[in-house]
Amino acid sequence: MSGVVVVGSANVDFLVDVPHPPGAGETVLGGDLRRSPGGKGANQAVAAARAGGADTTFVGALGRDEPAELLLTSLRDAGVRTELVERADAATGTALITVAPNGENTIVVAPGANSRLTLGPAQADRIASAAVVLAQLEIPLDTVRAAAAARRSGALMVLNAAPARELPDDVWNALDLLVVNEHEAAELAGSPEALLDRVPAAVVTLGGEGCLVLERGRESLRIPGIRVEAVDTTGAGDTFCGVLAAALARRSGLAEAARLACVAAALSVTRRGAQAAVPSAAEVAAAGG
Ligand code: ATP
Repeated sequence: MSGVVVVGSANVDFLVDVPHPPGAGETVLGGDLRRSPGGKGANQAVAAARAGGADTTFVGALGRDEPAELLLTSLRDAGVRTELVERADAATGTALITVAPNGENTIVVAPGANSRLTLGPAQADRIASAAVVLAQLEIPLDTVRAAAAARRSGALMVLNAAPARELPDDVWNALDLLVVNEHEAAELAGSPEALLDRVPAAVVTLGGEGCLVLERGRESLRIPGIRVEAVDTTGAGDTFCGVLAAALARRSGLAEAARLACVAAALSVTRRGAQAAVPSAAEVAAAGG
């Protein structure tokens, strides 16, 4: 067993800078339209591949349209294997994002092809050879379930439970590691510590404050944030998850993997964009990772 398989969403992000977020019924004149590759699954796959040392495959669904090519190019340029990406009879997932001067975002996602993602025998085979399987919640829950069922015993099933939604018991029971931010932890379990009633291990990200590593039977560990000039936090959580998964696939312990993920995610917030902001392994190493 080796490498990372990311099972998740891919979206084309359409971004417009606005003087303030539009209210109900309001039209706001914004700046130039920017288009960039995004979606939690694709972002995390790019981060895992750039982290180096772990073969990374993306399993997702795209439309048969031009935006799909933008996403495939970004994945391949980062070194992600894309041969198991499905083409669905639906538009490629799309996110419409406004960005206010204070960094506040409004986001509407049209999931399109992402909501059609299912696992066939080829995808299940690849998952069975992975050391780490990483999923999020922008795809059908049945697909997350199928990914967990397809992994080999000894492989790690990691769920980034974002966007947070209630999870059925069988999904909780299939997880080896949960990664969430503070708000998602509160929504899912009430507090970070209470997550260990549901999963053997969890990492709770704390924005600029770093993260909390929780493992059953061990003292919880706080990894401090790295002080940086934050320019754009889009995709910080995705960089964190991808780098964490790659480190776990290289057999790092959870605390060391989370420390590396914190360094990489901090570097990502110093640059604009999601996939474009993911640092390379060399940059992470130079920053002390
Ligand atoms: P997002 O939705 O913006 O992608 P998130 O809400 O999923 O992020 P956060 O907890 O905000 O997750 O951030 C994830 C990680 O990114 C943090 O654990 C930290 O390592 C890094 N990070 C985020 N914001 C900052 C910051 N301002 N300075 C340094 N590191 C940061």
